[in-house]
Amino acid sequence: DTIGANLDRAVAAWPDREALVDVPSGRRWTYARFAADVDELAYALLASGVTKGDRVGIWAVNCPEWVLVQYATARIGAIMVNINPAYRTHEVEYVLKQAGVSLLFASSSHRTSDYRAMVEQVRGRCPQLRETVFIGDPSWEELIARATPAPFEELSCDDPINIQYTSGTTGFPKGATLSHHNILNNGYFVGELIAYSEQDRICVPVPFYHCFGMVMGNLAATSHGACIVIPAPSFDPKATLDAVQRERCTSLYGVPTMFIAELNLPGFASYDLSSLRTGIMAGSPCPVEVMKRVVAEMHMAEVSICYGMTETSPVSLQTRRDDDLEHRTGTVGRVLPHIEVKVVDPATGVTQPRGTAGELCTRGYSVMLGYWNEPEKTAEAVDAGRWMHTGDLATMREDGYVEIVGRIKDMIIRGGENIYPREIEEFLYAHPGIQDVQVVGVPHEHYGEEVLACVIARDPADPPTLEGLRAFCEGRLAHYKIPSRLQLLDTFPMTVSGKVRKVELRERFAGGQR
Ligand code: ATP
Ligand code: MG
Repeated sequence: DTIGANLDRAVAAWPDREALVDVPSGRRWTYARFAADVDELAYALLASGVTKGDRVGIWAVNCPEWVLVQYATARIGAIMVNINPAYRTHEVEYVLKQAGVSLLFASSSHRTSDYRAMVEQVRGRCPQLRETVFIGDPSWEELIARATPAPFEELSCDDPINIQYTSGTTGFPKGATLSHHNILNNGYFVGELIAYSEQDRICVPVPFYHCFGMVMGNLAATSHGACIVIPAPSFDPKATLDAVQRERCTSLYGVPTMFIAELNLPGFASYDLSSLRTGIMAGSPCPVEVMKRVVAEMHMAEVSICYGMTETSPVSLQTRRDDDLEHRTGTVGRVLPHIEVKVVDPATGVTQPRGTAGELCTRGYSVMLGYWNEPEKTAEAVDAGRWMHTGDLATMREDGYVEIVGRIKDMIIRGGENIYPREIEEFLYAHPGIQDVQVVGVPHEHYGEEVLACVIARDPADPPTLEGLRAFCEGRLAHYKIPSRLQLLDTFPMTVSGKVRKVELRERFAGGQR
């Protein structure tokens, strides 16, 4: 199916079920009204000269219009370009030019971001940009007023439909070109494994600009008749828990840091989260301690971990509802239907035996068409056999469950020993004084690199000390893994998709204690 055809099917099956709820504004859409608004926007785009293959940008925080734009562009075969709402003029100009965006949707403003002023600054330097439509502004109404019903063009499910950018965790984000077939199937299978139905209400505090929100959220929902609940324009732990409680959500999404923030919110215990059944934690290593608390304290008995990357639509591995707690918290599950995975020696490309770590590679319908206009980068990531090289180290267990060891780029080499930060982080999460921890390698004149633990203290008035931390590890971790430096922080540098930018921590603390 194309995404448009899939929406038609949803409307036919569940016309009166809720499709979309925006908690901040109180606006609600049934499937019938949602599809009607999508069509109206699609007609307006056609009337504005947007045709199949044209690039339509969206530079916006979470709001219902984001979702309407997603489906309206898919309806007419325009390629939606997801632009990170945290971008500023320099970055947005780069993306608008690189992707050749001719029509741009943008938020008007949000917190300190004045999108209108920023568009004004770059417009003159982007000659291909014909029009900008601001959400919640008369320009949106003007666009909609142009809508005149006309037949939609025949589309192929292999047509490119999106340029989705990676999070930029390890460097500059890359734009993955994806088809209807890539992302609709992935959203569908993720939803299948969670057993979504028209009874489900999914709270989505993760950004729509990223694959987690728009595929695992929106496409999983519409392919199962479920409802998307938007708690806030950008992540806010209190707004998220309020929305779950008020809207009786059955599913909650988040990257690990979001769940940590929610679990540690003052007043957390007073929320009624009994409507929750499931959810997804994904995006970066999911600490076992945090998963266990989510299961026990948030009622999410069936919560899944997903592993994936933007370039593969995104999900390749997922834990199942009936997996036992050990598999569900300690692994990223098993491979999705119609996808293959293998673990190879990064140096030789030879497949590793089960139980041995190596680079994870994935193959199947989900692998992107390529990086937009960057064939050399595509060739570095996707080999001639169509295997996507993920850059992540993983181990395939005997029973087929996969453990993610960490990113190849994050591995610490101390005096010839390979150290995986993930293992030390997992261990330190059990320390009572630690709320959140990130372990990185920093230069050391003798060992090459040494282990630095960046810690957010549970009680800032009584933070852990390096001696205390070392004593906690002594005798339980090999000596070379025990952090030799501790840095206390209030927050970690984050991507908008909620991942800690370890690169930045490494750079910031490379020169010694600050
Ligand atoms: P960039 O490629 O721009 O540096 P990124 O890799 O973070 O950023 P995404 O496509 O958003 O961009 O994220 C994919 C990566 O996220 C994976 O390669 C992996 O490192 C990490 N990841 C995703 N899910 C999990 C998970 N469940 N456990 C551990 N790591 C995960
Ligand atoms: Mg990546």
